[in-house]
Amino acid sequence: MIASNCKDSVEHLLEYLDGELNADLRAKLEAHLSGCSPCEDFWKSYSATPGLCRKALIAEMPREVATKLTDFLRLEMNKSK
Ligand SMILES: [Zn+2]
Repeated sequence: MIASNCKDSVEHLLEYLDGELNADLRAKLEAHLSGCSPCEDFWKSYSATPGLCRKALIAEMPREVATKLTDFLRLEMNKSK
């Protein structure tokens, strides 16, 4: 079930970029990203951003990401019911 991992994945992305994620979680995160477009979009935007701009991105992105993910999760939850 992809959607249940979205929130965790977004949180883990930050640890991933800091190199704080262990191999097991990293593999799970990469697997999730390859199958989940909202998270993949976030990941691409984030990883394409130069280090100095990331603080600004973190400050600005969460609302957009949260909206996207919420919509996505609603769709997924409706599907599974
Ligand atoms: Zn996701």
